[in-house]
Amino acid sequence: MKERAVQENLLSELGSGAKLCADQCDACGQVFFPRNINANQCLKCLKGSLNSIKLSGKGWLHSFATSALPSRRVKAPYTCGYVDLAEGVRVFCRLHKDHSESEIATGMCISVVADVLWETDEERVFGYFFKPYPAEAKQ
Ligand SMILES: [Zn+2]
Repeated sequence: MKERAVQENLLSELGSGAKLCADQCDACGQVFFPRNINANQCLKCLKGSLNSIKLSGKGWLHSFATSALPSRRVKAPYTCGYVDLAEGVRVFCRLHKDHSESEIATGMCISVVADVLWETDEERVFGYFFKPYPAEAKQ
């Protein structure tokens, strides 16, 4: 079965140790996610060039909502949220399927992990999810 990431240049690998790939400006430090492989200059300071980095996957849950309507490949209900990663980028993603809305709260520590988004007879497609991280909540 073919395996791939839902988008190129998104994940460092497809396994459980995968990290999100981002760009970081070598002048001002701004981090951009997802990467824009066509950009060769920082869009914040317009001075620096961009270097590829791997995000830690650690951060805090900014906000979330649960949908009662199914999506194209996702059965309802499912929960999505904005997570603020330690590197200063806000990422939108789904709550991992092993967790439920009752386990999460705004401001809690989370980790972002790669896992299967959907699977067909021909391919397995990987994306990223957030899940509770066992640490104290952000003050
Ligand atoms: Zn910059």
